[in-house]
Amino acid sequence: MMRENGGVRSDDMCSHCLLPRATVGPLLHSPLATICQGCAQQAVERFDVEGVTGGEDPRRLEPQWQKVDDATLLRRIVDIADARDGVEDHLAEWVGRLRERGVSWARIGAALGMTRQSAWERFEKRR
Ligand SMILES: [Zn+2]
Repeated sequence: MMRENGGVRSDDMCSHCLLPRATVGPLLHSPLATICQGCAQQAVERFDVEGVTGGEDPRRLEPQWQKVDDATLLRRIVDIADARDGVEDHLAEWVGRLRERGVSWARIGAALGMTRQSAWERFEKRR
């Protein structure tokens, strides 16, 4: 669920560098993120760096968000909240499918690291 915000739609900007398509060119979309070619190339280069797993990487992605103004970052947290809501909806949908199979709230809760009661309260109310 993408939201209109200040002229640049959240699905019309790179979610890594936060720059609009008009600046960075074509974007590649995934369900929760969008990436421009420049950021994708930096990511591939980063994967190629030896020891990139866990350790300090001298070629870390440039923190481009530091160049972005407050209004853009405020819009970005709205996008992130929208993404969170989308994930919650998706999770509830799959929990519903498990319930249709007769899987107990206790098992669903255990899988999600919560009590049976917490799972029921969180998901049953959404149905
Ligand atoms: Zn980018």
